[in-house]
Amino acid sequence: MIKVLLVEDSPADAAHLMELLCGVDREDFAVTYELSVTDAVARLSNETFDAALVELSTTGGPDVPGLTDLKTQAPLLPVVLLCKPGERNIATEAMKRGAQDYVEEDDRTGELLGRSILYAIERVHAAEQLAFLAQHDPLTGLANRAAFRDRVVQALARSDRNQAPGALLLVDLDSFKAVNDTRGHDVGDLLLKHVADQLRSLMRPYDVIARLGGDEFGILLEDVSEARDAGRMAERLLESMAEPFVVGDIEVFRTASLGAVVFPFDGADAASLMRNADFAMYRAKRQGGGTAAFYTPSMGVRIHEQLALEHDLHGALAHDEFILHYQPQVSLSTDKVTGVEALVRWQHPERGLISPNAFIPAAEKSGLIGAIGEWALRTACRQRQDWVEAGLDVGRIAVNLSPRQLSGNAFVELTERTLSDVGLDPNLLELEITEALFLEHDQATIEKLGRLRRLGIRIAVDDFGTGYSCLSRLTNLPVDTLKIDRSLISNANEGQNAAVTRAIIALARELELGVTCEGVESEAHVSFLRQHGCDIIQGHLVSSPIPPEEIPTWAARRRRAAASANPNTTTDRPELLH
Ligand code: C2E
Ligand code: MG
Ligand code: MG
Repeated sequence: MIKVLLVEDSPADAAHLMELLCGVDREDFAVTYELSVTDAVARLSNETFDAALVELSTTGGPDVPGLTDLKTQAPLLPVVLLCKPGERNIATEAMKRGAQDYVEEDDRTGELLGRSILYAIERVHAAEQLAFLAQHDPLTGLANRAAFRDRVVQALARSDRNQAPGALLLVDLDSFKAVNDTRGHDVGDLLLKHVADQLRSLMRPYDVIARLGGDEFGILLEDVSEARDAGRMAERLLESMAEPFVVGDIEVFRTASLGAVVFPFDGADAASLMRNADFAMYRAKRQGGGTAAFYTPSMGVRIHEQLALEHDLHGALAHDEFILHYQPQVSLSTDKVTGVEALVRWQHPERGLISPNAFIPAAEKSGLIGAIGEWALRTACRQRQDWVEAGLDVGRIAVNLSPRQLSGNAFVELTERTLSDVGLDPNLLELEITEALFLEHDQATIEKLGRLRRLGIRIAVDDFGTGYSCLSRLTNLPVDTLKIDRSLISNANEGQNAAVTRAIIALARELELGVTCEGVESEAHVSFLRQHGCDIIQGHLVSSPIPPEEIPTWAARRRRAAASANPNTTTDRPELLH
């Protein structure tokens, strides 16, 4: 049944219209009748109707103020106007002011009136749906980005008026792309819906939750008494996100990262609040996911720098701005050079030479380390061969590896190919990996190291002694050499560091591993190491890392120094002697 409110100042006309509507086939109209718009508005204040049929003359002149009154009382009420032939202009004007249709006196049949009412209802319904879609995300039914932004604007104004702080949280699922890629888009969609439900159930009914796009959600909390409240909320959210999500017999493990701002302190307008929340989110992601970060003013500056750095790094690779410096390693017992370590630098066109510590972390985070590492490996191997062709034997070439490189699928094949392209014997390559890699117990990585080692490549554990490795685990690991971290030797003559250094050297001997000490800067270091049986050293005392073209000069100088120290030693071998 369709409930119609009829507004008609002539009772006779009203009776006629009701009669017409009663005679309509297939539709059942229940008509309630009022003589004036004022009475109709009063009725609408406590009763709802599906549509109104309004005599144009009751709406009060060309500006149809009565229609405005009706629409103010019931904004979504579909309205059909009844007009006389000369009133078509007014009726058209009324359509612009909210009426959905009009019917002229001449054409009034029950069928036509009925159809017009149904059409008006449909139009309002469609307009409502459009309005909903303009403000909501169709998948989850949550508010969309545009609606969220509007709500942030309103919340900021309220917070200003009431002097009450609020918080804006951004929640981004970690590795959502991987879920989509490995489990398919249907599971991805289900996961998003599930997250939307979770957020709804965790939040208070008046908190605004929105899907801002992809796997990013926004939450607007008003009336948080302080940042701590928002912090607690953030914690609860992350905990619930970390629970596995089950679809059928598939269990999807996921976590989320969260960036938060508290307003009005962290931004005076919606745009700066959203931007600062983004900065905080970026920080949370960089912490490895599964964590929350609150915005701090310095964050923006640092993140801008970080993003600029990542951007520049891409350019650096394309423009060949990376270079390798080489640092020799020498044996204390034979005085011979046993190898050189390749250390990357960035020759920045404006900022000069940049140390790897300043850009390797960014390269690792952005994934660019793969390409840089591949370049470094190839360049270093080729350089070693160039020296050989120039009559210089530098022993092994050592190349640093990032854990990210090893996690790639084809690293072993890539290394094999590089060696064969360059024509380098695998025994002459040493790959340096950090201790942390072993701590992660990643079996696949350890297997890859085993394969590299079976090719003949040596594996060194870099910066050893800083990562609290379980020393006994070393027995089962594919490792040839330990490189004692330079922080240990720099204070080796004092207490604990000396003990750790001694223990590492003893352990290496017991496990028949090579041991190299880096950061050797003084004769005092040398005598300490000699005393405790560490053979190979690397550090400023021997040479700082230097450009490849300086290695032959350095070698020649060293040969001369050795010859003058011991005139009986002659050598025509291209070896680097002390
Ligand atoms: P690392 O592999 O432990 O390299 C040794 C670092 O100690 C080098 O710093 C070297 O310049 C410095 N050093 C050498 N002798 C001395 C000394 O006597 N005293 C002191 N105080 N320092 C000394 P650098 O070149 O700045 O490299 C820093 C780190 O960057 C490296 O540490 C390595 O972890 C990373 N890195 C360098 N090149 C690459 C690369 O091609 N790939 C990857 N993944 N990492 C690299
Ligand atoms: Mg190294
Ligand atoms: Mg090191």
